[in-house]
Amino acid sequence: MTATAQPLPGQCHRQVVEVRAEVVAGVRHDVGAYVRLWGYGELAEAAALCASELLSNVGKHTDSVTCVLTLERRSRGVRVTVSDSSGKLPVVQEPDWGAEGGRGLLVVAGVADAWGAAPTGEGKDVWVELRVEAERPRACGERTGLPPQLLDAALYFAPGGAEDVERDLRCTLEAHDTGDHHALVLDLPDPAGALWASWARGGAPAAVLVLPDCPAVCPTAGTPCCEFAAHPGAHTWQLTP
Ligand SMILES: [Zn+2]
Ligand SMILES: [Zn+2]
Repeated sequence: MTATAQPLPGQCHRQVVEVRAEVVAGVRHDVGAYVRLWGYGELAEAAALCASELLSNVGKHTDSVTCVLTLERRSRGVRVTVSDSSGKLPVVQEPDWGAEGGRGLLVVAGVADAWGAAPTGEGKDVWVELRVEAERPRACGERTGLPPQLLDAALYFAPGGAEDVERDLRCTLEAHDTGDHHALVLDLPDPAGALWASWARGGAPAAVLVLPDCPAVCPTAGTPCCEFAAHPGAHTWQLTP
């Protein structure tokens, strides 16, 4: 007899759910319990909420009277899938705030790290992924002051005067063991970039320099990176605030 690969016990939970409000409320509770059991307590409430919204959607938008709920434990979180017999894929609609409930997918989209829908042979799957926050690198945070002669140099670029010039300097790069520290001194109008001071370990800033902005933009939030172009280390939004 040869051993065959089996799913890890306890890493997946699947159940048939009757789509009725009182049943959905009970399932919501169960989902939270499973997610806690798997060690993702911080995701329990969101997973329960997503599961109940997905199940409610089956009742509202399809003729299915039952559907299948699948909960899977992933390495950094959980995945909730609701499979029903309707091939009609869901769409996120503008909320009707006056209506009772009906926020469904809008709620899910706001809570989930990722979600999607896919047709299956018998209908469709709507799934949601919730992930625990990854350990983020920290910012350097090294501090120094802007020497008086560099304040004079910076004022040359500052039409608004000394008020716009940052004199308490703090390195915002990802924590680093080598290379110079960098701190923003003055933001310049687009597309000029910004005025930066750099300094060696244990030294003081000796010059200010104009550097172009890092062109990277956070793919989820759409916020730009606050560093200079080609900076070392992670982008602003990847660091622990
Ligand atoms: Zn630094
Ligand atoms: Zn960047």
